Amino acid sequence: MIEVIYMEDGIRDHPRSQQILARFPRATVLPCKHYKEVFNPAGQSFRLQKKKPALILAKQTGKLIHPIPPSYGVGGTRNFYFSHLLNCLYDCRYCFLQGMYPSAHYLMFVNFEDFEEEIVRATKTAKEQSWFFSGYDCDSLALESVTGFADHFLPFFKKLDNAWIELRTKSVATRALQNREPLDRAVVAFSFTPQEISTQLEHGVPSVDARIRAMLQLAEQGWKIGLRIDPLIDCADFKDRYAKLFENIFTTLSEHTIHSVSLGAFRMPTGFYKKMEKHYPEEPLFASDLESKGGIIAYRENTEKRLKHSCFELLEKWVSPDKIFTCEA
Ligand code: SF4
Repeated sequence: MIEVIYMEDGIRDHPRSQQILARFPRATVLPCKHYKEVFNPAGQSFRLQKKKPALILAKQTGKLIHPIPPSYGVGGTRNFYFSHLLNCLYDCRYCFLQGMYPSAHYLMFVNFEDFEEEIVRATKTAKEQSWFFSGYDCDSLALESVTGFADHFLPFFKKLDNAWIELRTKSVATRALQNREPLDRAVVAFSFTPQEISTQLEHGVPSVDARIRAMLQLAEQGWKIGLRIDPLIDCADFKDRYAKLFENIFTTLSEHTIHSVSLGAFRMPTGFYKKMEKHYPEEPLFASDLESKGGIIAYRENTEKRLKHSCFELLEKWVSPDKIFTCEA
């Protein structure tokens, strides 16, 4: 699956780099001084690289945890994200990563222990619970077999009594979770659009039914489940399609297994959107009823309200409203 691995000189002997190299004995390994030499140059073809991304192993430096946008959370007051990985196994047409990064290569930071130190520093004196979102710049679980991210960080979070972790995913690669006791302060959050939209826009993503089965398995084991209905995508028969999605989910999972549901309509910084439009000019999503306001492209206000309101109403039939959170642009 991975044919080329770029490796920063400084982390060549890191045990995590060595483990990954051992997993891909046939890969061509190319040294680099700094990942930016490979990842950052302008003019790379994201679309072409996406067909066969290389893996870049590097060390992340500087600030390792960041505050999340205020509306991204699910009830907490101290909210951060951290990224052990940039980019994703999947290829969703609406994904902002394609607009944000010049390269589609997987960029993995192997210095997990430095992330841990910063998380400990951020939570040490905090009186309130802190939330750490791990699926902001990647899918938290899709590349677990390469990164070992959940396998490493779940035991770490288990030791912290004032920190929550959210694993956000469209993957069914949940073995790292099935192999351990559920954590009290972890939410495994699955993102969904209705199957017809997923087929059209979420390339490589497991089917809705497969994800519901994976959720059920984890919920039965005792993991707290999150639902991320984000982005909402406007379409013909919007309400019927989303009603069917929610019915499928909630006739399979009991309400008490659901920690939170978040709703957010499609939105994106205008600069990212323009880059994505260039990658995929033929994509119908980019001809939707969108407008640019304050540097963000989003559905027109009335459309956005309609989408969120419809879904909120549909969800209220299944789940307590105090578990539903709405993300704003
Ligand atoms: S699963 Fe998430 S991170 Fe991956 S391509 Fe889709 S939207 Fe982007």
